[in-house]
Amino acid sequence: MSERAEGTRRRLYGAQDMVRISSSSCAGCGACCRGMSDTIVPDPYDVWQMGLITGKTFEELMGAGIDLHVEEGVILPHLMMKKDTEGCYFLGEDGRCTIHAYRPGICRLFPLGRQYDEEKTSYFIVPEGCVKGGLSKVRIDKWLGIPDLPAYEDFKSRWHSFIRTLTARIAAEQSDEIRRNINLYFLRLFFVQPYNQNPSASTFYEDVSDRMKRFADAVL
Ligand code: SF4
Ligand code: SF4
Repeated sequence: MSERAEGTRRRLYGAQDMVRISSSSCAGCGACCRGMSDTIVPDPYDVWQMGLITGKTFEELMGAGIDLHVEEGVILPHLMMKKDTEGCYFLGEDGRCTIHAYRPGICRLFPLGRQYDEEKTSYFIVPEGCVKGGLSKVRIDKWLGIPDLPAYEDFKSRWHSFIRTLTARIAAEQSDEIRRNINLYFLRLFFVQPYNQNPSASTFYEDVSDRMKRFADAVL
């Protein structure tokens, strides 16, 4: 399964491969940060990172960069687009990201897509990528710039399948009230409750894994 278009034949790359995607000559046109509607869906790692750079809790980010929408019955956060410019809430007037070092994973990925197979994460180039030409080659792990990429890839793969399982659980649930309660528990456990405050988890990944297990035991 992949985070972008599925079913198309495409060349797949590993994190150590070189690909011609680098917009080191990025014009700051902001084209990749506009008109995205509710499609930029941050995961818990992203929201944790956004909290670090903005100093805001998830509740404080609500209406100030993040909004909620329903996707196949699951309530998920998404990055807000401004009504007047259709630009991302975090897009500066100079056309550059104001939270660049802490931007969500899907923004880091651009113009790549990611595909999860058993035990393996692969990357592919999205054809409708950067509007600027003259791209140069870069190693994918360097492009992503995420510390401990293997741990991150493992989390992303598990989160991806976790959301699919949650979607199926919600779809099979007949009771509106139980669906609502599952969604509220999901939001509270994975987005509202701060990370790095669990004494039995030394890393974000341990903390989120512990929450996924607790949620699965209680709900899935
Ligand atoms: S579309 Fe390309 S040139 Fe424009 S802001 Fe995005 S990366 Fe930069
Ligand atoms: S978070 Fe930054 S990189 Fe991502 S869409 Fe918003 S402005 Fe663009």
